Amino acid sequence: MMAHKQPTVLLVEDESAQREVLIYNLEAEGFAVVVAQSGDEALLLVQEEAPDLILLDWMLPNVSGIEVCRQVKARPETRGIPVIMLSARSEELDRVRGLETGADDYVVKPYSVAELMARLRTQLRRTRPASLGERLVFEDILLDAGEHRVFRAGQPISLGPTEFRLLSTLMEKPGRVWSREQLLDRVWGRDIYVDTRTVDVHIGRLRKALMRHGGSDPVRTVRGAGYALG
Ligand code: CA
Repeated sequence: MMAHKQPTVLLVEDESAQREVLIYNLEAEGFAVVVAQSGDEALLLVQEEAPDLILLDWMLPNVSGIEVCRQVKARPETRGIPVIMLSARSEELDRVRGLETGADDYVVKPYSVAELMARLRTQLRRTRPASLGERLVFEDILLDAGEHRVFRAGQPISLGPTEFRLLSTLMEKPGRVWSREQLLDRVWGRDIYVDTRTVDVHIGRLRKALMRHGGSDPVRTVRGAGYALG
């Protein structure tokens, strides 16, 4: 079982040559790639796949990249997904319009693949730091995603793979309340059917492990809503 679900990138590009180059490079960087060839398809896949980032070409048939971006940023459930727009046009006006649609970053073709990947990582570092193998800290808890280790007040904590993924998800956004369904999607994956009560069982195990050497319970139960850290 993997330490983390790979970050998923939704690539929206209608030109096959561009698409192939990007798929190759994204997969080489360790991303899972979901592909849409049109704006309509992109909007469906945003809902279905809940990607971690959207790489969105400006020029698309029918629904343009601008419109896709606007709709993604207008919906509360998808607003937090970073969008990087790709455009062949470098005019200042386009840049401004791109930013007005709520795009998080903007890259003009032809771009260097290395630079594009760096920008992708910058966005993911902001939204999903644990997916990049970084260290997360919350109060006296340290989670080293690269080494796959957890410490509390300097003491090593032994966690099962599910508890580890649960904790890294919670630690990515301390204070954020996660519903059981959101935790299921993030920790177990969307394709697996698991009862939401399973989340409670694993949260219980996580709490027990974190308090084994003392310390208070860092996981807060939010009645009717789910769980949060702190
Ligand atoms: Ca295009």
